[in-house]
Amino acid sequence: MTIKNFILKFTKMDRREFLKTLAVLPLTALAKTSPKGYYVKPKIASYWTKKEGNTVQCQNCPHECILKEGQRGFCRVRENRGGKLYTLAYGNPCAVHIDPIEKKPLYHFLPGTNAYSIATAGCNFTCKYCQNYDISQVAPEETSNYKLSPEELLEDVLYYKNKYNISSIAYTYTEPSVFVEYMLDSAKLAKKKGIKNIYHSNGYLNEKPVSDLIPFLDGANIDLKFFKNDSYRNVSSGSLEPVLATLKRLKSGGVWVEITYLVIPTINDEKKEIKEMISWILNNLGNNVPIHFSRFFPTYKLENLPQTPLKTVETAREIALEMGIKYSYVGNVKIGHTAENTYCPNCGKLLIKRRGYYILENNIKKGSCPDCRERIAGYWQ
Ligand code: SF4
Repeated sequence: MTIKNFILKFTKMDRREFLKTLAVLPLTALAKTSPKGYYVKPKIASYWTKKEGNTVQCQNCPHECILKEGQRGFCRVRENRGGKLYTLAYGNPCAVHIDPIEKKPLYHFLPGTNAYSIATAGCNFTCKYCQNYDISQVAPEETSNYKLSPEELLEDVLYYKNKYNISSIAYTYTEPSVFVEYMLDSAKLAKKKGIKNIYHSNGYLNEKPVSDLIPFLDGANIDLKFFKNDSYRNVSSGSLEPVLATLKRLKSGGVWVEITYLVIPTINDEKKEIKEMISWILNNLGNNVPIHFSRFFPTYKLENLPQTPLKTVETAREIALEMGIKYSYVGNVKIGHTAENTYCPNCGKLLIKRRGYYILENNIKKGSCPDCRERIAGYWQ
């Protein structure tokens, strides 16, 4: 069976949908970017203070690494050179793709448009299930990078904007917080040109950089990985509180926020933990924040665990809706699952029908349900 026939059979797509899929498969080495190479150009970092001697302390994320001369931070991208902190992740993305915005996932943010998506090497977490560990758990010298300044990035985005229906730049795949300077400079230029900015993050960033980013961000999907501090520490080398603080800051700063919770068997799949998380969301962010419950598949250092049963994410979604969350979805499920769709929380009308990342129907009219006029939270055209 050819790959094409396999995809057609497995997904039950028709030929038109299949061709549409091909049109937005990841596109690297876009025509206007430089040839790829091991490009790294150190740049003075933001968010650090000088300590005794030539020691510095990075204050970008809650790790707050104290670095002697020559030492590099936990994220592998910030280094003390001569008593100054440098970032090695500026203008050198190792991944450049055009993705449906639904892939972030953002289901209530300009549905059906594409996001020009970038990532550099490095991450401030060490998630044992990372799907992108080949670029997140390495230094910028170890990835093949594009030379792409914020100005060149914007030029590229504008060049492809109409052809690929690009509405936004997504800072994604690894952890954009570690390339915060590059993200912020790019986001400022994008905003001037009417391009939206999407932050897909673990939320592990200090208050000052989050505050600096907020005026330029339009949407965010935050991976709320666990609702237990121990799991954050043991599985990802992080902690829960700073992530919750970032969620509150983004929400109160007017950024459109959606949350992804990857349900991992034996680690964060207990109903009690899920209910506690939902209560926190309701009490601190409100009932309009969409929650995506995604299935885990064995990968990287957690190949010993089973994949998440479909029923587990379906039940988590039902719990969220019963507790009062208005919009909840399942992810990493077979294409065509009804819980990929958006329904009116008031009358139940099907508002957006999805098939994987693709929009088959969008019945939302002026941000509202066409039948009962219920306002649907989100960022619509
Ligand atoms: S951004 Fe990197 S260097 Fe800075 S505190 Fe976080 S992990 Fe450490």
